[in-house]
Amino acid sequence: MVNTFERKDTTSEYVLEVRNFNAYYGEKLAVRDANVRIEKNKITAIMGPSGCGKSTLLRSMNRINDLLPEFKVQGEILFHDKNIYDPEIDVYVLRRRIGMVFQKPTPFPMSIFENIAYGLRLIGITDKKELKDRVKQALEMSALWDEVKDDLEKSALKLSGGQQQRLCIARTIAIEPEVILFDEPTSALDPVATQKIESLIEDLAEKFTIVIVTHNIGQASRISDYTVFMYRGEIIEQGPTSKLLTNPQNEITQQFLSGKIG
Ligand code: ADP
Repeated sequence: MVNTFERKDTTSEYVLEVRNFNAYYGEKLAVRDANVRIEKNKITAIMGPSGCGKSTLLRSMNRINDLLPEFKVQGEILFHDKNIYDPEIDVYVLRRRIGMVFQKPTPFPMSIFENIAYGLRLIGITDKKELKDRVKQALEMSALWDEVKDDLEKSALKLSGGQQQRLCIARTIAIEPEVILFDEPTSALDPVATQKIESLIEDLAEKFTIVIVTHNIGQASRISDYTVFMYRGEIIEQGPTSKLLTNPQNEITQQFLSGKIG
């Protein structure tokens, strides 16, 4: 069983590489022949209209869709040059290294402290001082510490939606992944909470590699370095965000950006 994904001493700046990848729900092809490289410490946005396969491609990157019996894949997704779909990969280790934040904030029905400490204990951290330090550090990195430092024993469900989402981010980064996958993390939030999460994601790129699904052109433009545009299961165009948004090469991308499809 492979339980490490060593960072090889290579010149490659790519952490993940999707190669000739198809994903199916039963007979339905949801992602067709995808090829993408995800660069280290950058923010890559996967953009496109609803139902085009963004989420499926993202969820394939840490094998979370394995839980669906109908889900099948072909092709490869390399993480540090190892195919994550290789039968000898330990998916629990993989998901520790490639964490995920979902659309709807999903804190556990327990205290703010326990929401983070829970995952830390699962990876073997039991020393009380270390737990406290790691919880504090994760909350600081998620720009939530100042708001909750006096309420760590309060139920996480009492927090606002935006705070809950930052807590979910804290929970994810506490176990020190290398990549964070965000699946429309602000679509359930108001503009102020959205702005906080967007600026947090930009800060997190200093330490983590980030892939974010969004159907929002403004969001991709504000925070991402690279954009992958998908339509009907296929990657239509990809490249530096500033170039793709201002000078799209493909007619479908142009139509999406001008609001003609969406
Ligand atoms: P997006 O994230 O762009 O909205 P998705 O990746 O969620 O798109 O969906 C791509 C296609 O796969 C859609 O046609 C959707 O209906 C289908 N799909 C998504 N999830 C499932 C599922 N669990 N079972 C069956 N079909 C699904």
